[in-house]
Amino acid sequence: TVLDDMSKYDHEQVVFCQDNATGLKAIIAVHNTVCGPALGGTRMWQYATGADALTDVLRLSRGMTYKNAISGLNLGGGKAVIIGNSRTDKNEALFRRFGKFVNSLSGKYITAEDVGISPQDMTWVNMETNHVAGLPGKSGDPSPVTAYGVYVGMKAAAKQQFGSDSLAGKRVAVQGVGHVGEYLVKHLTDEGAKVFITDIHEDTLKRISNTYKAEVVGLDAIYDLDMDIYAPCALGATVNDDTLSRLKCSIIAGAANNQLQQEDVHGKIVMEKGMIYTPDFMLNAGGVINCYAEVANLTPEWAMAKAEEIYNTTTSILTRSIQENIPTYAIANKMAEERIEALGKVKLSY
Ligand code: NAD
Repeated sequence: TVLDDMSKYDHEQVVFCQDNATGLKAIIAVHNTVCGPALGGTRMWQYATGADALTDVLRLSRGMTYKNAISGLNLGGGKAVIIGNSRTDKNEALFRRFGKFVNSLSGKYITAEDVGISPQDMTWVNMETNHVAGLPGKSGDPSPVTAYGVYVGMKAAAKQQFGSDSLAGKRVAVQGVGHVGEYLVKHLTDEGAKVFITDIHEDTLKRISNTYKAEVVGLDAIYDLDMDIYAPCALGATVNDDTLSRLKCSIIAGAANNQLQQEDVHGKIVMEKGMIYTPDFMLNAGGVINCYAEVANLTPEWAMAKAEEIYNTTTSILTRSIQENIPTYAIANKMAEERIEALGKVKLSY
């Protein structure tokens, strides 16, 4: 049942939103508000079943609790899903009705964009509630902040692995040069790293390689490259049985979510191979830091300074991983739980 699912993931509240007039079907999941109001984006997706939508929103909202907690933000974790086709089912009435549901939570949940949702959609939501971030003309594209956090975290990992945090001369392969990937390539080439790039879009590759002196490699060839650092900035689950038998890098550090195909299995193999894996949800928190700056009326400078803390957080995780002989992803989860426990004196048990 739904209540069983909720308690399995330890959620505080799940709201099912239904409106026949607009055809809205949505679920808002508030996982944990110990550190502050639950912030997380709304995803619009044509789920095959309601159960699929529920599983997704429960899983994603829990992930936001961990991301927000380890980033030191005064935010809890939440997420929403709208069941529908983001190309054909969008209209003002639907999003305003959704906004009324968000508003009914009185600020316990703050929404933003996720897959399938644009800033324009959020302006409709904003007509009914102020509990929304990612509006046009506000904090804007989070990618520069995300890329900066990934870059400083990568440097912290280099310090641990190579004894210096300089990336000059290091061979770094960036998989996916979209919004975040491009900013990351700029930081890396500015510092004198030898950068390799791959992407499914030829025109993007051509533009980036010309602008930043990065060398293009094949979509699959990236895994066999002689490199120091592998930076996944496109898809999840690229660290798996197949790629781990091929990757020769010392560090895995990128923006993509859920890089380890199976956290426990592949996180452990990475450690046994002597590679450093910088936990993705900590490394790519620049996006949510940017959202927080918008809702808390903080400046872009504040957001960049907060993203810079990812350097120290990475160092703490890597140090504890060695001391406790536990993979980095598990240390990151522990650190997030410790913050929540300290603030709320609640024992979480997953
Ligand atoms: P994006 O869509 O702008 O860029 C992704 C790029 O990857 C595109 O250029 C795409 O063509 C390319 N790509 C797709 N499949 C590929 C493949 N098989 N091999 C190589 N390249 C491929 O997305 P983005 O905003 O740059 O985000 C990148 C990743 O970081 C995503 O996983 C996203 O969830 C995550 N992330 C982004 C932010 C942010 O601030 N944008 C924040 C946190 C996490």
